[in-house]
Amino acid sequence: MASKNGSYQLSQWNLTGLFPAHDSAEMKAAFENVERQVKTFEAKRPQLAADMDQGSFMDMVREMESISRLMHRIYYYANLWFAAETQDEQAVNFVSRVDQFMAEVQNRTLFFSLWWKSLADGDAERLMAEAGDYRYWLEQMRLFKPHTLSEPEEKIINIKDVTGANALINLYDVITNRYVFKIEVDGEIKELTRDSLMVYVRKPDPDLRAAAYQELYRVYGEDGKILGQMYQNRTRDWYNEQVELRKFSSPMSARNLENDLPDNVVDTLLEVCRRNASLFQRYFRLKARWLGIDCIRRYDIYAPVVKSEKTYEFDTAANMVLDSFEGFDKSVAEMAKRVFDEDHMDSEVRMGKRGGAFCASVVPGMTPYVLMNYQGRPDDVATMAHELGHAIHSMLAEHHTIFTWHASLPMAETASTFGEMMLLDKLMAEESDEEVIRDMLFRQIDDAYATIMRQAFFALFEREAHRMIREGASVQEMSKAYMENLREQFGDAVELSDEFKWEWVSIPHIYHTPFYVYAYAFGQLLVLSLYQQYKEEGESFKPRYLKILKAGGSAAPVRVLTEAGIDIHSAEFWQGGFDVIERLIEQVEAMPVEG
Ligand SMILES: [Zn+2]
Repeated sequence: MASKNGSYQLSQWNLTGLFPAHDSAEMKAAFENVERQVKTFEAKRPQLAADMDQGSFMDMVREMESISRLMHRIYYYANLWFAAETQDEQAVNFVSRVDQFMAEVQNRTLFFSLWWKSLADGDAERLMAEAGDYRYWLEQMRLFKPHTLSEPEEKIINIKDVTGANALINLYDVITNRYVFKIEVDGEIKELTRDSLMVYVRKPDPDLRAAAYQELYRVYGEDGKILGQMYQNRTRDWYNEQVELRKFSSPMSARNLENDLPDNVVDTLLEVCRRNASLFQRYFRLKARWLGIDCIRRYDIYAPVVKSEKTYEFDTAANMVLDSFEGFDKSVAEMAKRVFDEDHMDSEVRMGKRGGAFCASVVPGMTPYVLMNYQGRPDDVATMAHELGHAIHSMLAEHHTIFTWHASLPMAETASTFGEMMLLDKLMAEESDEEVIRDMLFRQIDDAYATIMRQAFFALFEREAHRMIREGASVQEMSKAYMENLREQFGDAVELSDEFKWEWVSIPHIYHTPFYVYAYAFGQLLVLSLYQQYKEEGESFKPRYLKILKAGGSAAPVRVLTEAGIDIHSAEFWQGGFDVIERLIEQVEAMPVEG
């Protein structure tokens, strides 16, 4: 599909479809409208009763949705404006005004979900009988009911958490956020934050990469004992609450319920990851050859392989992405085209604009907004495919309510990663510049490592750590277990130095949100497995895939996938994802090593 009606241009997006301006009459009216609707909603509070009629109940659900839709429009207007102009003081002020307003609205409407969760199963079932698309949202709120304690007990946990577990995590943040890292660059000692230090692990200079990691874990290691003790207490608290009091069968199963995933699915996923550790070991050996060294060190994992200089005009890139989507399905490409045609893409690089890229889906029925900083590199083309994939996912699911529209975390990267894979396929078939293909392959495999294998091994460590701590393991023993975890992950393919024994105390996720990390591995591997099925089945796969995207967040992941004929309980399904990675690695292996 060549863009027959003119070419695609780098541009700034147009937010007037949301509001003409932050100080417009329309914006003022929207605030007043929310206020009015919230008042009406609050006034209905006395009607909430186990024996209320279905009609009045559903009226309240729909009112809640109407408030939510309006709030989303205001919220996104503020945040998209700010993303486009982070230095604009008016935008900054407007964002805080909206945040404040949103928190108030949430507090004022909170009574509804609290009441809903308190209902007995039979009463809830009767009220939900005609809920249609709202049903999964209502069910989800009640998932935790069997693990909910009496009101006084819940209150005590809340009160004690403020100065207990939450305070502990805050302390962890306070201590680690004030770390200053020193590194010598070109004869000059630089004092850096963790983020700015980590830039050096991706630099071409091997000494600099090593120095950055050594400094990172020198600083964390100095507090290693204290940070380790914090983790011990965090996991003990987690066990006492989730397993002892709330009766979850394991520490991890509390998180699984949050993701609405069965325990055995997550166990199978992690086991398959573990079995495939050798695949990425093979990749690291390959990367060593590209870097011209015998054995890669842990310091070199993110080392850059020589980059291609090729750039793409924006119009060329847009057409490549749209063509690759059209190769899959015409209607999918048409949806992506809407983002360009309605001026919902902010693609140019500008002073004051935030970096990176994202896709913002405001309300069902409205074309999503995409922000990126397009500079013409092959990477940027892949980012465009990724973000437009997110947009397509939202558009395919736009017939759902605002509560059941978004796919849940484990499913949220499905269309985006799939979009990147479609682009990669097209490039493989058509691009004559081998360097471009190589860069895209390295990008894809590096991403797969960071989101699948690294995160899966974090989760495996967490499971082990929670068990060990219960059995009284010391901080030193934890560090030893962490090194064993790394050795299993890297085998003899990666040289591991001693300071990595402190890596575990530097992972905020395992302190903040235990077992969160496996969702990354789940999501990425799911897409790759789906892609594998697409390659095998061709046409017949397409309607099943589109069905998954169309489901949005309207049912549990297992149900959505089962209905599309996919069995996430089976190890073979997850293995399919690794088979895709293996083929990517084979393609790099077939390329002549340069330099
Ligand atoms: Zn994404």
